[in-house]
Amino acid sequence: MTTTKIILPESEIPTHWYNVVADMPNPPEPPLGPDGNPIGPEALAPIFPMNIIEQEMSQERWIPIPNEVRRVYQQWRPSPLYRARRLEEMLGTPAKIYYKNEGVSPAGSHKPNSAVPQVYYNKVAGINRLSTETGAGQWGSALAMAGQMFGVEVTVYMVKVSYQQKPYRRSMMETWGAKVLASPTDQTDAGRKVLAQDPDSPGSLGIAISEAVEAAATQEDTKYSLGSVLNHVLLHQTIIGLETKKQLEMVGDYPDMIFAPCGGGCNFAGMAFPFIADKASGKNINLVAVEPTSCPTLTKGHYAYDFGDTVGLTPLMKMYTLGHDFIPPSIHAGGLRYHGDSPLISQLYHEGILEARAVPNVATFEAGVTFARAEGIIPAPETCHAIRATIDEALKCKETKEPKTLLFNLSGHGHFDMMAYDKYFRGELEDFAYPEEAIAQSIANLPKF
Ligand SMILES: *Cc1c(COP(=O)(O)O)cnc(C)c1O
Repeated sequence: MTTTKIILPESEIPTHWYNVVADMPNPPEPPLGPDGNPIGPEALAPIFPMNIIEQEMSQERWIPIPNEVRRVYQQWRPSPLYRARRLEEMLGTPAKIYYKNEGVSPAGSHKPNSAVPQVYYNKVAGINRLSTETGAGQWGSALAMAGQMFGVEVTVYMVKVSYQQKPYRRSMMETWGAKVLASPTDQTDAGRKVLAQDPDSPGSLGIAISEAVEAAATQEDTKYSLGSVLNHVLLHQTIIGLETKKQLEMVGDYPDMIFAPCGGGCNFAGMAFPFIADKASGKNINLVAVEPTSCPTLTKGHYAYDFGDTVGLTPLMKMYTLGHDFIPPSIHAGGLRYHGDSPLISQLYHEGILEARAVPNVATFEAGVTFARAEGIIPAPETCHAIRATIDEALKCKETKEPKTLLFNLSGHGHFDMMAYDKYFRGELEDFAYPEEAIAQSIANLPKF
């Protein structure tokens, strides 16, 4: 009998996170200040505590996971690795398909893997208040939960379109004690500036980041917390890939290809980075980030220094970007509506170590529904992007009769996204064409120095 769920005992929760910086062929391009010179740790001190800044800049290969964090991880980790037997049968593919289910966390996605340590490090540094942004509500939920567990107050700037479309995500954050505001708000300079130009702005992650950063920088007792993009967030997420490697060893298997949805990049990095060292030592493995055609950062963006937020408050980071003032179409995969991408992923992609594919909106829901009908689990719209790419590959294997081993990260469940599924079933979803003109315009506004 083929095992369906590959389960590790709690004692096997990894003791260290993996820092890919130690194994990169070239050192990471440094973040720059407004004058175009590399910034030091002190430039980040208004918004992050020093213990997190040290992690952000660390070159150590292995970084110990504090016991207090592992204790909280035990609430849902290790997460199960599944063999998608029923999906394989439904597709009639000779490929083997595995998926890691990060939807089993209390918040419903991989996001708590970083929310928990971020809150912990702030608490240890004496910080009792955090501000953050959330797109689809996944990161806000995760930070709200972690804040509750360590007694840290959390204020969430939630992208307005999600705030309206996902009232239950908001209730969830409130259940865990967070304060939730619809961004753009009239409570920050950044928010007021956007509202002056467009009173009906649906908001964007870039705008919400501006608001949350401003709140942290201007309030003495508040620090900021980011759910993706930065090195330390990707570091925390490597627990996904590290567990997966142990689980695959238990069944004597190894993937030929790995897929994960890619917004800011943290769940993709979390799954893929621990396999990069193997790739460097000669393993033949394809690591594929999957993004929407409506926000095609890696596949159509420019590799350049840009701001992480819309207004330009963050340091400049070298990354694939569509331009910091690009506002992507409101597709429902809110977690993938970000103009930039993690600098580490961008550099590794630029150097040909990672790959990327873009998939259109309607086809991703079709894949999500196929998956739900085979495996039972209803995936988040973001996750559906990775499922689309995995199914496409499995169908290709059917044609070529290649028994490849495919692995994808099920980054979250879709229980709060049923409105998007509903639109799909009613035929109301559209494939937004690649917004070429809007991107060209934003690219023209890239910072010059
Ligand atoms: C946030 C989110 C994503 C995208 O963010 P990354 O930083 O690219 O991981 C993907 N899937 C789910 C379920 C999310 O909540």
